[in-house]
Amino acid sequence: MEGMSKIEWTDCKCGAPAEINGLCDDCFEKERNTERSVIQRGDRLIIQFPYSASLLNVIRELPDRQYNSGLKVWYVPAKYLNEVRAALTPLKFRFYTD
Ligand SMILES: [Zn+2]
Repeated sequence: MEGMSKIEWTDCKCGAPAEINGLCDDCFEKERNTERSVIQRGDRLIIQFPYSASLLNVIRELPDRQYNSGLKVWYVPAKYLNEVRAALTPLKFRFYTD
């Protein structure tokens, strides 16, 4: 193919290349402290939220959930999107799904 290669990066609001959810790593980290969100990446859902003991109890009810202690996010297989929506939409999570 001729012509300009398409750049897949989109700019974060801070001007840096965005990687997750339209945000760069730094802004993603900051927003995690203020927002409850579920981000779909391929066959995986990434669940992030500011620490809350009561929320953790809800998360622990989700099927096949896994905690990534390095990133401090939870993963749930995307095939359980409906279950995750049912559990987390009432808790004011925002969903960014394919
Ligand atoms: Zn940024």
